Amino acid sequence: MPSRLVSLLLLASGVALAQGPNAENQKPVPPPEIKSFDPSAIDKTADPCTNFYQYACGSWLKSNPIPSDQTRWVRSFSVLGERNRYLLWQELDSAAKDPKSPLQKQFGDFYAACINTDLVEKKGLTPLETAFRQIAGLDSPKKVTTVMSELEAEGAPAPLFNFGVSQDEKDSTKQIAQIAQGGLSMPDRDYYIVDNPHFQEIRKQYVEHVTKMFTLAGDSPEKAAKEAAAVMEIETALAKVSTSRTDLRQPENHYHIYTVTDFQKLAPDFDFSVYFTDVKIGSFDSLNVATPNFFKGLNDLIAKQPVDAWQAYFRWHVIHSSATNLPKAFFDENFAFFGKTLAGQVEPQPRWKQCSTLTDGALGEAVGQDWVKQNFPPNAKDSMDKLVAALEKSLGDDIKTLPWMSEDTKKAAEEKLAMFRNKIGYPEKWRNYAGLKVERNDLIGNVERSAVFEREWNFGHLGKPVDEKEWGMTPPTVNAYYDPSMNDINFPAGILQPPFFDPNIDPAVNYGGIGVVIGHEMTHGFDDQGSKYDGKGDLREWQTEEDRKQFTQRTDCVADEYSGFETAAAHGDSPEQKLNGKLTLGENTADNGGLRIAYMALQDALASQGKSIDEKIDGYTEAQRYFLSFAQVWCQNQTEQEARRRALIDPHSPGQWRVNGSVQNFDEFGKACGCTKGQPMYPANSCRVW
Ligand SMILES: [Zn+2]
Repeated sequence: MPSRLVSLLLLASGVALAQGPNAENQKPVPPPEIKSFDPSAIDKTADPCTNFYQYACGSWLKSNPIPSDQTRWVRSFSVLGERNRYLLWQELDSAAKDPKSPLQKQFGDFYAACINTDLVEKKGLTPLETAFRQIAGLDSPKKVTTVMSELEAEGAPAPLFNFGVSQDEKDSTKQIAQIAQGGLSMPDRDYYIVDNPHFQEIRKQYVEHVTKMFTLAGDSPEKAAKEAAAVMEIETALAKVSTSRTDLRQPENHYHIYTVTDFQKLAPDFDFSVYFTDVKIGSFDSLNVATPNFFKGLNDLIAKQPVDAWQAYFRWHVIHSSATNLPKAFFDENFAFFGKTLAGQVEPQPRWKQCSTLTDGALGEAVGQDWVKQNFPPNAKDSMDKLVAALEKSLGDDIKTLPWMSEDTKKAAEEKLAMFRNKIGYPEKWRNYAGLKVERNDLIGNVERSAVFEREWNFGHLGKPVDEKEWGMTPPTVNAYYDPSMNDINFPAGILQPPFFDPNIDPAVNYGGIGVVIGHEMTHGFDDQGSKYDGKGDLREWQTEEDRKQFTQRTDCVADEYSGFETAAAHGDSPEQKLNGKLTLGENTADNGGLRIAYMALQDALASQGKSIDEKIDGYTEAQRYFLSFAQVWCQNQTEQEARRRALIDPHSPGQWRVNGSVQNFDEFGKACGCTKGQPMYPANSCRVW
């Protein structure tokens, strides 16, 4: 769906992290329990005042290399994520073998179809034949519209752009149609347009990969090479008219309301009235066009490209998007480029992992019902309610004492804070999947029917009142999000466990874990994006002009600071890769704010128990345990390719900078660790927004 601006805690993996039908040797094994606070992770040879991340995580980093089926390995997210997935797999495996309810039969069959790689092999490309026939019918540029809608109607991917329904950013009570750029296969437009030897090499390998996939699909090597060149040409042209991720972060850059008639004038050669009718969205007069220039560019392309180029483009997207569900030869070739070359992954994930994730994606709120019964104790929600209330109080106190903000703006900020809604654990009301037909012997059919089901569900929101109880994440997910149009913070059951949250440990560790996560999500309501929406979720300025100026000076400080952080060193043809401070600004602001307000909440909590933050447990003060707990959430190893890929697409900084960037902007850290003013983690000047 187009540009739904939710701010996550951690980006879900952006590449199809493929795994093969060949992973016989990788049977599911129960994952280890994760310690909330781990002194053995610490590198005591490092100086916490010089590099706190190295101090908190150094030993862990050394003894936890990246598993061969991963591109990065994060102490908290990855390890807990694997554990949750294992528990999910147990449920799916048992439902596939012996379902106890119609719902279990539905998701059990979905899983069973995915795990049956013998059948995948036997079917070959047969499941894609309908799509191929539709594409073969493209005999004039006018038919680009027809093919797009036919593919979408069948649940095959419609690659050229993204279309769906979401809240009107300026009137969050309305749900409107929205359309945005799309159409690329590589992770970002930069992969197509940045002109240096590093990206030139990637582009060369991409064209070779597309050629191989066409050859596997039965085309002659000459034809395949021609088709791959056409795919590259169309995708490059689309990349050139795409808006950058950084520019899209600003809400005003993706908000352009058009009447349907005026929108059609942007791209007269693509008949949107036919498309809107064929995808059965229902009628509407106006829509948000997130990226108008993209549609002008698309129009030029439709007329300019010959029909066989368009056929190649659509055919490629059909094969590519199904590659992980096709026979091994396709699977392996897809992994070789998107897993190995682009992300540095050594080997595919075992099939049971991919099928568990796929089923969670398609039927998450069906699978989640049993999952939360078994893995989310009722008292966890009570504890979370108390923690969220404590963090809300701290953010309120913080706003009251901000030195740069006027009284009027403080009042408006407090009003917005008072209107936050919290969602914890899982939906009060589960989605109904009765309309989704699942067949035990039809993996690609299931995936396509699920795509149609999801689209119809999304389109069903058009013009309807907003349902505040809907969730954007499934219960086992190890993540959290803030949604500016809803003005709500959301914490799935999956993250409310050690090492984030442990009912049996001292408060400093929980405040450094889940406390900072809660503070992070709340601060998103006031970061460079979130601060542009009011308490009702409408895009509307509520700061005075002078306060906005002050705010921007402070966010510029953070953006410049993080732009100086390196994520991959230069070598050979590969240049040094630094972070993009503007792309990561919202997340860095949220990390900084979260660390500060959770610390304030911890001080309140300890004070109410008559305890001091300087009290020691196992040799560390409560303050030190807080900062260590926070840092140890982010211990991570990642491949160099992944570091480079994420620097372009991930609005989050890597673990090292999430930790060091945050502590060096918070003087309480330097004090707690006895650092001397002027040391790297306790600098003379630092940035502060909230
Ligand atoms: Zn975030």
